[in-house]
Amino acid sequence: MFSDTDISMMENALRLAALGRFSTSPNPRVGCVIAHGSQIVGQGFHVKAGEPHAEVHALRQAGEMAQGATAFVTLEPCSHYGRTPPCAEALLRSGVTRVVAAMRDPNPLVAGKGLVLLESAGIKTECGLLESEARELNRGFLSRIERRRPFVRLKCAVSLDGKTALSDSSSFWITGEEARADVQVLRAESCAVLTGIGTVLADNPQLNVRTFVTLRQPTRIVLDSHLRLPPNSHLVTDGQSPTFIATLERNEDRLHPYRKHAHVRILMPSETAGGKIDLNSLLHLLADEGIGELMVEAGSRLASAFLAEDLADEIVLYRSPKILGGGSGLFCLPENRAALSATPLWTPVSSEILGHDIKTVFRKNDNAF
Ligand SMILES: [Zn+2]
Repeated sequence: MFSDTDISMMENALRLAALGRFSTSPNPRVGCVIAHGSQIVGQGFHVKAGEPHAEVHALRQAGEMAQGATAFVTLEPCSHYGRTPPCAEALLRSGVTRVVAAMRDPNPLVAGKGLVLLESAGIKTECGLLESEARELNRGFLSRIERRRPFVRLKCAVSLDGKTALSDSSSFWITGEEARADVQVLRAESCAVLTGIGTVLADNPQLNVRTFVTLRQPTRIVLDSHLRLPPNSHLVTDGQSPTFIATLERNEDRLHPYRKHAHVRILMPSETAGGKIDLNSLLHLLADEGIGELMVEAGSRLASAFLAEDLADEIVLYRSPKILGGGSGLFCLPENRAALSATPLWTPVSSEILGHDIKTVFRKNDNAF
């Protein structure tokens, strides 16, 4: 059904889509190539929410050359009026005679309607070329739409002997500069970065991207059941990106000092029987706020809670060659001897050396995201 030229054109469209990885949130990353055979006459990608979609950039570049051409898009063209007019109609008007999409748009406002619209106007449409690559690029967006929760990535750093902190819990860097720079890239790709109040009280972090210029800073989220966040902390006083405080506190007098900052939002997830923030309900709230890709940069207890509730999709582990001794381990979960003989739940999907440290990415086996 698809030729080698088709595959190579879609690969180009996927490469273009990936250029939007730091900026399209909450929108998906989408690329578009318009070609006659292997001759590309227009190309583009979606840069930022509210700005033109990939197809519009590509069609503008192609102009008259779109007549009789094939459009390759990494996601089904939209068919609804959002902040911009529908791309399916723009493609119809352009004179392209064939549209190839890598995957259907799961957004219920589109979901097949874009392709049907084109098909019914006599344009040849095909779907599913390099679909798994396209899904990978938008796993956060897809998770938000299909599961109503973000794709959750746990970021962890350990010493060679598996320790995360010295026994006095003093704050320090386990990993080297290259690994820390890599974390900045992961933050920039994420819709939001989540941490626990313990980390905020210990380190007063900014949780932003500092090592390079980015069009969009990730939203910062702090889990703070009892509202202990100091009103003079970076997350409250610096308004360069939104801060969400997830809390069980309902007393408006206590919430007021935070609410008066325009960039601060209070989220009220439900409470577990044990008096903690219900992570499932929190993730639903985050999906409703447009958070698709979520990075958890938290201490052992909170990271373990995500694992215990089966809410983590990916683990990014940075391992330093230092031997620390003492201290606490990476996760604190009840002993599970059955895991020794059972099929592993996690699969390493990539591993690389960054300076002196090793980065390994693990994905959940049964996970389509
Ligand atoms: Zn569109």
